[in-house]
Amino acid sequence: MEFKNYIGGKWQPGRAGLTFDAVNPANEEILAQIQAADVADVEAAVQSAKQAFKAWRLTPAPLRGEILYRIGELLKVRKEELARLLTQDMGKVIAEARGDVQEAIDMAFYMGGEGRRLLGYTAPVEMPNKFGMAVRDPSGVVGIITPWNFPIAVPSWKIFPALVAGNTVIWKPSPETPAISAAFVKVFEEAGLPAGVINLLLAPGAEVGKALVSHPDVRVISFTGSTGTGRAIAESAAKLNKKVSLEMGGKNAILVLDDANLDLVVDASLWAAFGTSGQRCTAASRLIVQKGIAPKVKEALVARTKELRLGDGLDPKVDVGPVINKVALERIHGFVEIGQKEGARLLIGGGKADVGGKGFFYQPTLFDGVLPGTTLEREEVFGPVLSIIEVDSLEEAIEVNNRSQYGLSTSLFTQDVNQAFTAMRDIASGLMYVNHGTTGAEIQFPFGGVRGTGNGHREAGQTALDIFTEWKSIYVDYSGTLQRAQIDNRPQE
Ligand code: NAD
Repeated sequence: MEFKNYIGGKWQPGRAGLTFDAVNPANEEILAQIQAADVADVEAAVQSAKQAFKAWRLTPAPLRGEILYRIGELLKVRKEELARLLTQDMGKVIAEARGDVQEAIDMAFYMGGEGRRLLGYTAPVEMPNKFGMAVRDPSGVVGIITPWNFPIAVPSWKIFPALVAGNTVIWKPSPETPAISAAFVKVFEEAGLPAGVINLLLAPGAEVGKALVSHPDVRVISFTGSTGTGRAIAESAAKLNKKVSLEMGGKNAILVLDDANLDLVVDASLWAAFGTSGQRCTAASRLIVQKGIAPKVKEALVARTKELRLGDGLDPKVDVGPVINKVALERIHGFVEIGQKEGARLLIGGGKADVGGKGFFYQPTLFDGVLPGTTLEREEVFGPVLSIIEVDSLEEAIEVNNRSQYGLSTSLFTQDVNQAFTAMRDIASGLMYVNHGTTGAEIQFPFGGVRGTGNGHREAGQTALDIFTEWKSIYVDYSGTLQRAQIDNRPQE
């Protein structure tokens, strides 16, 4: 297979003629050759997006929404084909890959509906014969930079709201998932999206992303990825007064109280910690357990972790696929070694897994006795490693949860409604679940995190439109006279 960049409605090689490989992490085979974009292609993409914006912003929003519906229908038809390519490109098991595509289908229809909403508002005004309203304007050319772990879902949270609001898009996906990114954009082309409205740049390294962020004609940057990259982007974009939305790292926790349903806790913890091999932004990496139930939770978790099957995600019997690449494998193992040095007890796992001598597999790993302030308690591992922390009470569990530098997703297991409502009030995270693991968001609600995870924006739901639109307040005075607000309707001294 070979994939190219998509600029101005044409599939094209990069201007520098460079290539890179897409590698299947389950078997280390080359999945596709990619024609790499470089900085000169950023300029071409910006010019094409600027040109396309002139007509796209004037295309009635309901018609823009209808193109999203067509994209949604095509994604339904292509769901299995895309899911299989996604698994080969980044490794997640096929059931999860189908979920990734489904999220984009849901988002296409949800945002398609926005074509007939994009709600602004009117409010009374203080002068007679005058009218006031606030409407959403598109921002212009937007840059979208995404990670590899949800290679269709995360881009869809950004691209669909951007398009329905009338913006044109330049998308730079992760170099780890170029094949599935190009296949996704092919669907937009097939659905009849006009040339230049979406542009795709496939590139290794950071240069193309940096050029997009520092280009003065790209007015918005919507980024999902690691906290370090997000901060660098925010600094660069600030120099040009750009709007930036950042969705970054997590250190998510499951809180388990003594009265919790043990079987449910174990099912949910395995899914939240080891699904996508722990490489979800919402993956549970801390299990904060009340002391009474802790021995039973540990025993059951170890037993069930032993049963997990590792392998190529295309095999429907496999529970845990590979991690993304060799660098990630080494990084995860580095965290495990540090954890042991800092005194945590390894309950199971703790090493690279041999799956037929190929692929980047890491054993699902459980640590016990993880102490406050240690690396495993603080840092995002982004791999299949779950750290167990024991506490005395709900209050202590909340305190441990909230002191993290990140604040994306927290879940609580209890049968006690009073405890549940106390936690709902006091947990400081962007997402919270009661009696469910830390993953499983639905696209109709705001998604995002606090502290080191985000910069105050939210994706999905109605909030998805905020970063991609500018409010314009319009006053129409039909009195035929000069009416000075705040002055002419007040007695003068
Ligand atoms: P990353 O930060 O390495 O890369 C993300 C994207 O930024 C990639 O497309 C990359 O090429 C690009 N990039 C890298 N350096 C850049 C620069 N200087 N300027 C512009 N672009 C640059 O992250 P990753 O390894 O792809 O993804 C994993 C991270 O993403 C984890 O930290 C995870 O928690 C986070 N994530 C967060 C969410 C969320 O919603 N909060 C969702 C998914 C993933």
